Amino acid sequence: MWLTFLCAVCLLPGSLALPLPKEAGGMNEEQWKQAQDYLKRFYPYDSKSKDMNSLEVKLKMMQKFFGLPVTGILNSRIIIIMRRPRCGIPDVPENPQGPKWTSSVVTYRIASYTRDLPRFQVDQIVAKAFQMWGKVIPLNFRKVERGIADIILRFAVGVHGDPYPFDGPGNTLAHAFFPGPGLGGDAHFDDDETWTDGRGRGINFLYTATHELGHSLGLPHSSNPKSVMYPTYMNENSEDFQLSWDDIRSIQKLYGNIYYFK
Ligand SMILES: [Zn+2]
Ligand SMILES: [Zn+2]
Repeated sequence: MWLTFLCAVCLLPGSLALPLPKEAGGMNEEQWKQAQDYLKRFYPYDSKSKDMNSLEVKLKMMQKFFGLPVTGILNSRIIIIMRRPRCGIPDVPENPQGPKWTSSVVTYRIASYTRDLPRFQVDQIVAKAFQMWGKVIPLNFRKVERGIADIILRFAVGVHGDPYPFDGPGNTLAHAFFPGPGLGGDAHFDDDETWTDGRGRGINFLYTATHELGHSLGLPHSSNPKSVMYPTYMNENSEDFQLSWDDIRSIQKLYGNIYYFK
């Protein structure tokens, strides 16, 4: 009887899959697999829970972050968010109060460029992104052409010398490292995206650079959709935008208010 049952299973490839856990919420296997990868990648830390590897805990963290009902069960609203292009940095940082730069002048260098925009325009946009932050905090940014710099920006594809390979068009757009030596402060942009100056189809480089430089200065992600530090790309198709009050408050909490220092 038992043997007959086994053979029946063998004849039906694909039917051997284990039933999905309740957290999968009736989604299919493919969706559940993608959701697990996403949760492990963007919700790797949890200081409050002892069960850091539980997918249910991670799913609840994500639902809380995005202001959804905290059920611990996957649903289509979460899957829609998971499919948006986004920043590669986790939404919950390892240390809520991250490091910051301690000198008043921070240097940067653009080590490689994209072919999507003229070089001078990349320089202009990066300078503008720094100024978004620089005009509200007592830090000055100075571009250097070669050698060592605090923040090194570059465009790269696929595996590019750090543990976080890029993934082709869509999904992860860029990532950056919190302030520190070596890779610390550096910002990398996936050159498999189409970068724009805010016009036409593609990813707005000013918006993305401002977001990544927020990390380079020490900011984590914000769950306020108006914040430039919101983790998913909001298809900000404009040549100009402003920091939200949330962004200004967060960066001034780290570095102080410019009016008191200058
Ligand atoms: Zn980010
Ligand atoms: Zn990188």
